[in-house]
Amino acid sequence: MKLSIPKYWRRRFDYYSVIIAECLDCGKKTYPRKHICPYCKSRNVRAITSAGIGEVIAYTISYFRVEGSEEHIPKIVALIKLDDGPILIGELVDLDLSELREGLRVEAVLRKIRTDDPGGLIYYGVKFRPLMK
Ligand SMILES: [Zn+2]
Repeated sequence: MKLSIPKYWRRRFDYYSVIIAECLDCGKKTYPRKHICPYCKSRNVRAITSAGIGEVIAYTISYFRVEGSEEHIPKIVALIKLDDGPILIGELVDLDLSELREGLRVEAVLRKIRTDDPGGLIYYGVKFRPLMK
């Protein structure tokens, strides 16, 4: 999927950080952020930037090739429970497969996602690495 540069630029904060929604009526937090709370249907929600720290609750290793992201094979995809509450799907980077386990503490980092073509747009986004101490 190619995005125009202006469209990508307008959405950069969504791509470059973990933004969750907090319902000001019931207190639940959701990811991805929504304008209506899925629990109580309130429109009284606000966007907050998560610290992006959490724990791996499940993972899989994918060897599936996607055009433009061949350099990221194998890809480790994990279910991550953020300390803020929501569970999200994220890619794990900067780790050896021997480190991979459920319960691994991770943090969000900005990484290259893919490129359109050799002269095209380079997409960056959030991935997760083992928590640095
Ligand atoms: Zn709510």
